[in-house]
Amino acid sequence: MVEATRRPPSVDTILGMPAMAGIHDLFGRRLVKEGVRDIVRRHSDIDWATGKGPALVEAFCRTRMESGPHRVFNLTGTVLHTNLGRAPLAAPAIEAMMRAASGPSALEYDLTSGRRGNRGGDVALRLQRLTGAEAALVVNNNAAAVMLLLNTLALRRQVPVSRGELVEIGGAFRMPAIMARAGARLVEVGTTNRTHLADYEEALGPGTGLLLKVHTSNYVIQGFASAVEEAELVRLARAHGVPFAVDLGSGALVDFSRWGLPREPVVAEVVAHGADLVTFSGDKLLGGPQAGIVVGRADLVRRMAANPMMRAMRPDKMTLAALDATLALYEDPDSLPRTLPALCLLTRSAADITREARDLESDLACALTPAFTVEVVPLESQIGSGAQPVTTLASAGFAICPADPGRGSDRRLRRLAAAFRHLPRPVIGSLRSRVLFLDLRCLDDRDAFRAGLRDLELP
Ligand SMILES: *Cc1c(COP(=O)(O)O)cnc(C)c1O
Repeated sequence: MVEATRRPPSVDTILGMPAMAGIHDLFGRRLVKEGVRDIVRRHSDIDWATGKGPALVEAFCRTRMESGPHRVFNLTGTVLHTNLGRAPLAAPAIEAMMRAASGPSALEYDLTSGRRGNRGGDVALRLQRLTGAEAALVVNNNAAAVMLLLNTLALRRQVPVSRGELVEIGGAFRMPAIMARAGARLVEVGTTNRTHLADYEEALGPGTGLLLKVHTSNYVIQGFASAVEEAELVRLARAHGVPFAVDLGSGALVDFSRWGLPREPVVAEVVAHGADLVTFSGDKLLGGPQAGIVVGRADLVRRMAANPMMRAMRPDKMTLAALDATLALYEDPDSLPRTLPALCLLTRSAADITREARDLESDLACALTPAFTVEVVPLESQIGSGAQPVTTLASAGFAICPADPGRGSDRRLRRLAAAFRHLPRPVIGSLRSRVLFLDLRCLDDRDAFRAGLRDLELP
């Protein structure tokens, strides 16, 4: 029998088909009905009897029930990748978050007096111990810490900053714009490549609210360049009776160079040099949750805490719990390469990563042939998040190229990168000079990666 026109069965007919019963049980009638409508609209000639249609409806429902953000494999080579969530948390930090999330806690309640307590008080004490500072305050992120600092200490007042330090962190964080929105007046000092003490001296006056040094997180100025030492800025600020603050950006609580990593400024050292306030991030080198941390002079931290803007920037209970648990790991610094996941990743040896690549090579080659070639190659990872932008860590991974480098090969490679991104657990690599690189430094589940390759659809 030949049908003149193949009209799809009605939605109600489809819903009544035996093949749909299991899907009903899993997802409920309402969502399944929506799924059927969607699939019928997009695939008018689909076969509902043999399972292709029901399978698509099931996929529709699963996608709808899934909650984001998607877990991915970060094979970009950038360890603290801002777009991929920066530092992975340590197990005790995850447990602490779950405890805080699942029931009431004495978050802002003093158990001794039975009255309202100080949110983040325990975390502050720990930060004081770890940095040698008199006081500490936690906010939502370092951008908030800088905003609060400027708005509290330099509202309608001048803030001299070296022209070499007017950073853009990415997104909308540009130091001059933040200054303006915080109500402070930026006074540009010196030149892009060279700033001298005399330049700062000239800029300081009765209208100065704060002297600020900003860590040039994501760039370096090399060649004919000079900046003023922190110790000299401390002396200058004291002589003029203005506070001296340092925005460290990433900052580190311990000197990571002892584990062969490039040296980043250590918060305790900047405090010891005499900085009145230091701001840094919780989820960069510290390896904790997104947070902004201010440490320094008690009187200044008190003023910041009393700023009404603080209420708009205060961290939630999960953040404080995770931060406290992460900081607890720093009480035993020798174990950090084992206990702090971010440091585990940063200190992985190239030899170890190469071994992992060799182990996976044949599986990947199998999934990619004959359209693409794959090779194990040495790579250079980056720390990321504005720590040491020009220093790299020896790493290893895969270089993937189209087997036929003729016309359209660029497009095929871009499509392959997209196919990796569309795997059930997406794989994010980096496309550079007509090669798709997968840096294995941050591969956290080899078996899941291997299993995922089965779903890769070659373009
Ligand atoms: C990263 C960074 C910031 C912003 O920190 P977030 O935690 O991303 O808000 C501010 N200043 C500097 C120098 C930075 O490197």
